[in-house]
Amino acid sequence: MDDKIAALEQRLKDWSATLQPLCQASSLGAEDMVLTDVICRLALPIPVFTLDTGRLHEATYRLLDRIYDHYGCRITVVWPNPDAVQRLVHEQGMNGFYDSVERRRRCCQVRKVEGLERALSGQRAWMTGLRREQSPERGEVALEATDARTGTLKLSPLADWSRDDVWAYLDRFSVPYNPLHEQGYVSIGCEPCTRALQPGEEERAGRWWWETSGQKECGLHGADHAVGNEEEKVES
Ligand code: SF4
Repeated sequence: MDDKIAALEQRLKDWSATLQPLCQASSLGAEDMVLTDVICRLALPIPVFTLDTGRLHEATYRLLDRIYDHYGCRITVVWPNPDAVQRLVHEQGMNGFYDSVERRRRCCQVRKVEGLERALSGQRAWMTGLRREQSPERGEVALEATDARTGTLKLSPLADWSRDDVWAYLDRFSVPYNPLHEQGYVSIGCEPCTRALQPGEEERAGRWWWETSGQKECGLHGADHAVGNEEEKVES
């Protein structure tokens, strides 16, 4: 574990020195808390932002304040365009995302993807907490990949980390994390679209559980995080 942490710290230091402007897009999940902790401990010039869809768990909102109390720095919160949210709700209701994959993707597009693209405007690179073990769709995640959609470099320094590695790190450095993780939530997104895992389920099974597997992405992360991608592939 010491070697893995040292390699992670070196990776972030190198990227911070050579790939500016660089930021972290944080979901506030366990993996992203590892990255934010490295950034804060080493005082790296890597701003962190998160997307508030307006539908997050209360525990997630509280975590934002705990992060401030712990590190003394604010994570920038990016909100969706209010006019677009109003149109979305007018067209498909507050919870239309349960009706079809198309409606769910539309909601994710309005509440998440547009804000991500806005936040990444002008950035050279962005960092995510993706790991290959999280799902079959993420099995090819590369440390560095070109994000064709935004024209940025997408960095996933935890690509080769296991879930145990993540939790060993959080424990070692007493990093604040979302208490929902202790209630069986592994991947935490919007409140109406996330549930705790059942025994034996894969890590992303708690997201959009009413849809078939192979579609468990919201548009923030597609096939373009894989090695050698050259064109955008629109994800589910
Ligand atoms: S996860 Fe659910 S509530 Fe959140 S943006 Fe996507 S469809 Fe909408």
